[in-house]
Amino acid sequence: MSLNLLDGGKMFGWAGTILHVNLENKQIKKKPLDKTFAVKYLGGKGFSSRLLYELLKPGTDPFSPDNPFILSVGPFAGSLWPTSSRFEVSTKSPLTNTFGCANSGGHLGPELKFAGYDAIVFEGISKEPVYLHIEDDSVKLSSAKDLWGKTTAETEYILKKDLGDMNLKVATIGPAGERLVLISAVINDYGRAAARGGPGAIMGNKKLKAVAIRGTKHLAVAEPDKFFKLAAEKNHMVRQSPRTKWLRDWGTLSLMGSKNAIGDLPTKNRQTGQFALATNMDGPTVTEKYAISRRGCYACPIACSHVTEIKEGPFAGTIGEGPEYETTDALGPNCFNGDFGCVAKANKLCNHLGLDTMSTGVAIGFAMELWEKGILTPEDVGGLDLTWGNTTTIISLIEMIASRQGLGAVLAEGVKRAAEKIGKGAEYYAMHVKGMELATQEGRTIKAFGLAHATGNRGADHLYALPTIGYGNYEIARRYFPHLSEDDLKEFMDLRNYKFKALQVTFTEKVCTMSDSLSLCKFSNAETYVLTPADIVEGFSLLTGIQMDEAGLLQAAERIVNLERCINARDGYTRKDDTLPRRLLEEPYAIPGVKPTVVELDALLDEYYILHKWNVATGLPTREKLEELGLEDVAEDLAKLGEASSA
Ligand code: SF4
Repeated sequence: MSLNLLDGGKMFGWAGTILHVNLENKQIKKKPLDKTFAVKYLGGKGFSSRLLYELLKPGTDPFSPDNPFILSVGPFAGSLWPTSSRFEVSTKSPLTNTFGCANSGGHLGPELKFAGYDAIVFEGISKEPVYLHIEDDSVKLSSAKDLWGKTTAETEYILKKDLGDMNLKVATIGPAGERLVLISAVINDYGRAAARGGPGAIMGNKKLKAVAIRGTKHLAVAEPDKFFKLAAEKNHMVRQSPRTKWLRDWGTLSLMGSKNAIGDLPTKNRQTGQFALATNMDGPTVTEKYAISRRGCYACPIACSHVTEIKEGPFAGTIGEGPEYETTDALGPNCFNGDFGCVAKANKLCNHLGLDTMSTGVAIGFAMELWEKGILTPEDVGGLDLTWGNTTTIISLIEMIASRQGLGAVLAEGVKRAAEKIGKGAEYYAMHVKGMELATQEGRTIKAFGLAHATGNRGADHLYALPTIGYGNYEIARRYFPHLSEDDLKEFMDLRNYKFKALQVTFTEKVCTMSDSLSLCKFSNAETYVLTPADIVEGFSLLTGIQMDEAGLLQAAERIVNLERCINARDGYTRKDDTLPRRLLEEPYAIPGVKPTVVELDALLDEYYILHKWNVATGLPTREKLEELGLEDVAEDLAKLGEASSA
């Protein structure tokens, strides 16, 4: 498929230009966005999936110059539609060797659109550290020698000061990315992170320290009067909805209490799912004791982020955005750490050094369990005390991971590789899928999340499918699954019941992919369903001038899901890789009073592949499915590799 076939029509919603930056020869090209391509892949994650499919040869080493790094936005970015702030970074992940993507909010995504671009594709490797500076039509690479070694916060501040523009939007890596730490993040707006899968290491490998963007153009809207009226109505809906109130009042930390109550709060590297000190760091406590202000991303009527200040104790003086739920569980209960001050400090340190807080917390919890089990000994860890919950060690290990020192150098490779290196049975305690550290839901409690973690194309991922539709959202379930009876719906909502969980995941992964491709935050749609795909497609049509219905929008999302799976298929990923850590498959767990269970994954996988119309034996899309989605060329490619097959 050509990427450059202009049909001559004016673009609305999309900016209409993709930037190609060759870091080796410093050539910068602006290529027009093909409208057919735009409609088919939507934007953001969809654009980068197709661009990666085109540009990445199977078998490419993630650290090869031939692995592109793509920053992309969708048509809603910068449109004033509620929560239209998100951007995507995509590359072949150095952590998982799969299709890699990570998503972040803040203000950088809209700024890229205001500068006139839908995506930046970085190729090659620079000889010296550089940063890309975009000011509308002016795009240039400059030396980042003086920035190399700086933290993300220092880099953002220096760029803004030196370039004389405090409104500049900056995405940057820290020392962790420069040292190719495989769990390193890209940080923007001082504390927002595109972190999962190690995209920071790819920027570090390319010697690309930062991207600094200033845009002053207006977004072209197909039917501005109708679109902005609808956007205002939807903003009001999102702001007023009781389904977003918990986020507004307490942020994502409100999940701590409810998840703890049902045994869905991974604790002690998943030895259990409840933590006695969870109330130290739940939403109401943190809001009352530590929150000093709130922050929101661009055009967000929710503003879920709380800035916290630790006023006393060993971590007094720590001020920063968050920490959010995933970070808090990973660096708190997962490490048996009940000190919220330590979690806040650890979060800030990870952000400044450019580390994925989730993978970092899981890696530290893994090391603490190896210590408990005697697999890591004092001789292995250079004097560290890895006793559960040791706050000094947690902070030290973060610094050691970012600087690849001692045990930190081992954990910097992620838990899968670390376990292979340590040996002695460490593999059992490495909580990952496809090499990516597990997100902080407990699959033995929430069966749909067990399946979602196992099948995520980028590895263990809560945001790939986010099957929260099963958390009692009867209204939405009735609407999207009208064939289910009221008795069926009770089983649908029973989190520990396997029935209908594959159905949930195949639906919610489309809604999540839609959200990531259009540059929307899931808190307005895929998490809360205040805005449904039907609401969003109405806005999409007024914004872009493209008439599309809800089924068409969800089919575009399904196309992207299938395409991502095919990127992995070209590298040999199959059903065998859709699995979970042995602890979740073999070690029964439940809260008191409930029968302990494992995740019985095989039957769930069968049902999931059948619903997708994929090959049940291989877990790969069939030719029939790919052709139905307009991916005939992909079906041909896979057939040549002997991968696509009939069901
Ligand atoms: S809900 Fe939170 S993460 Fe989402 S756009 Fe708003 S402030 Fe950002």
